[in-house]
Amino acid sequence: MTTHEYDVVVVGAGTSGCYAAATAARESYDVAVVERKTEEEAGHIACGDALKGADEFPEAIPKSQIESAFTNTDVDHGRFEIPQEDTVLEIPVPGELAVIDRWEYGRKVIEGATKAGADFHYDTVVQDVKQDETGTVTGVRATCDGDAVEFDSTVLVDAAGSLSILQDKADLADATFDTNVNYSQFCSAYREIVHVDEPVEWDDALVFKPTDRAAGYLWYFPRTETEINAGLGFQMTEEPMHLVDDLKEDLQNRPEFEGATVEDKLGAALPTRRPYDSAVAPGFMAVGDAAGHVNPTTGGGIAGAAYAGKYAAEQAMEAVESGDVSEAALWEYNERVMDHFGARYAGLDVYNIFTTAVDVDDLMGLLGALPTQKLSEALYSGSASIGWKLKLRTAIRSIGHFDLVTDLYRTKNLADEIIDHYERYPADPRGLPAWQETRDSLLDRVYETTGAEPKY
Ligand SMILES: Cc1cc2nc3c(=O)[nH]c(=O)nc-3n(C[C@H](O)[C@H](O)[C@H](O)COP(=O)(O)OP(=O)(O)OC[C@H]3O[C@@H](n4cnc5c(N)ncnc54)[C@H](O)[C@@H]3O)c2cc1C
Repeated sequence: MTTHEYDVVVVGAGTSGCYAAATAARESYDVAVVERKTEEEAGHIACGDALKGADEFPEAIPKSQIESAFTNTDVDHGRFEIPQEDTVLEIPVPGELAVIDRWEYGRKVIEGATKAGADFHYDTVVQDVKQDETGTVTGVRATCDGDAVEFDSTVLVDAAGSLSILQDKADLADATFDTNVNYSQFCSAYREIVHVDEPVEWDDALVFKPTDRAAGYLWYFPRTETEINAGLGFQMTEEPMHLVDDLKEDLQNRPEFEGATVEDKLGAALPTRRPYDSAVAPGFMAVGDAAGHVNPTTGGGIAGAAYAGKYAAEQAMEAVESGDVSEAALWEYNERVMDHFGARYAGLDVYNIFTTAVDVDDLMGLLGALPTQKLSEALYSGSASIGWKLKLRTAIRSIGHFDLVTDLYRTKNLADEIIDHYERYPADPRGLPAWQETRDSLLDRVYETTGAEPKY
């Protein structure tokens, strides 16, 4: 059996893994990326291909190195089709937005991490996590071409995505690491790359449309004016959808897809939950989808994954230097995630909970009545300031949905309180239980207000 030794071992060559690897490798740390796919297939990942905020991506793999994958930079708004209300809402999307060739982007981030000096081990499937007698994680066991291989790490980074097995294999019972993770906090999604002969009219928009279920939606994202990423997903609290057939049916009902050809098909799960309360254990950190770093209302996870990778690697380097890989030594990683996007995503999760308890027609009626600028703010910042005049106008426009409007405002106030509470995220692992207790009591009020089933 072969054993490799590295300062940092990263499992997964997706966005979070490549940014983690590039950050540490360019500072001359020994970094391995262990990826189950072949070198040719690596980077081929199920996605809607909408990339938000690329102008601010971490410098370890800057925008200039991935830009060639940006096939449509003209998109600047969301187009929400609401068939129940016979309405189309055009909602501006703040910040830089592009639809990308996702596989090309995947190859580019791998190239960026390789250039920075990381060693890639393809075709290598991690099967188990190694821990010493104190419970500290010390590496992984894997198979490569049927042969056993081990990777010893000072710090192990779990970047293996939403279906990572590492957290099932490791014994994290004595750590603060968040193990309150359940399939119902995930969304099941599927997408096809579809070619049409004639340019679509909405090549500057991300098109969304609700499915018949409250927590399901379809999307049409234009990679170019004739190459469309078409997909759909549903929250796993709901009855399973027939993703392939439901997408086919919607495509058949849209005249712009007449005679279209399908080039590529992929499906996967994505977390639509709050970020992990703690994503560290001794010698171990989780990043990206493996730590719930996805905007739970839009499903956008690429930017969060890139930053989580950077923050984890910076903390791992400090730990390697000091020889201290304890939770306390790795804790600042959690703080940086919460400070940058975690608090916002936890606030957005409250709206996700709200939608699971609402009738889809009522919700669509209400959406049609809300001011689009405020919807845009709420979707991306986790909150929107709504003055009393606007409240009154919304209430009048949404007559028939009055109870729902009241519940939404109450929910919004609770989401704001939750965001404030995340801004007081503890500076030390010892502060976590008390912080969680207050957060949980705020969430109990969310369940009470919305009538939703507890999500956690
Ligand atoms: C259908 C769909 C549509 C989406 N649309 C968008 C969108 O439009 N915009 C957006 O920003 N986000 C979107 N997301 C979310 C986004 O794709 C993820 O948040 C992002 O890819 C997370 O990156 P990651 O590096 O954490 O994980 P991943 O990209 O999933 O990478 C994980 C890697 O780990 C490898 N791996 C897993 N297990 C093992 C193992 N045991 N051993 C070795 N290697 C392993 C995998 O092969 C993979 O390469 C979408 C997700 C889905 C499923």
